[in-house]
Amino acid sequence: MALEKAIDYSFNNKSLLQKALTHRSYSRDNNERLEFLGDSILNFKIAAVLFDYHRDVDEGDLSRLRAHLVNKASLVTIGKQLDLGQHIRLGGGELKSGGWRRESIIADAVEAIIGAVYKDSGIDNAMQLVIHLYKQRLQNLPDLQQIKDAKTRLQELLQAANKPLPSYAIISVSGKAHQQLFAVECALEQPLHSCRGSGKSRRKAEQDAAAKMLNFLKNEEL
Ligand code: MN
Repeated sequence: MALEKAIDYSFNNKSLLQKALTHRSYSRDNNERLEFLGDSILNFKIAAVLFDYHRDVDEGDLSRLRAHLVNKASLVTIGKQLDLGQHIRLGGGELKSGGWRRESIIADAVEAIIGAVYKDSGIDNAMQLVIHLYKQRLQNLPDLQQIKDAKTRLQELLQAANKPLPSYAIISVSGKAHQQLFAVECALEQPLHSCRGSGKSRRKAEQDAAAKMLNFLKNEEL
């Protein structure tokens, strides 16, 4: 079928592919266990490729690179390129829901297909499929600086300039328990400056404040 052509793999046992394309809303015999397996294979293979091809990259950057490659958004894009939407078997309620649930369903099916190839013919073919699906992304890895979060970039910038590290403090927490908004201040000693950020978690508010500080530092001599 067209999908097998798109993934460059032909199943010996077609029912495994069928299962990989079956959402739990359609049948109890669905793709959840294959997804679990495929998720592990995908993460392992991407880790192994990054390890071999980026010998000068440390563990933290390897993790960031992998997270940049393996995430829901990239799986959804890959799934859409494979035109998975039209192959996935969904139950009635799920068919109507559309929207973000549909996106997760597509991402999960991509992982399930990887798991299904493993069950069909073994780990080498499953890993080859990972490479096939991620070839373009692996060839166009982002600049390491680009994928670092704002707090990390700020810390590295200050360390490189031999300046004291920033401090973060919560200024306020507002809103009800399930939709709190945090305000955080990021403060520097040299240069003496502070920035406020906000977000739905302390972590997000800190990242926001750090991003603002980075923006401020663009125009400063360090
Ligand atoms: Mn998943």
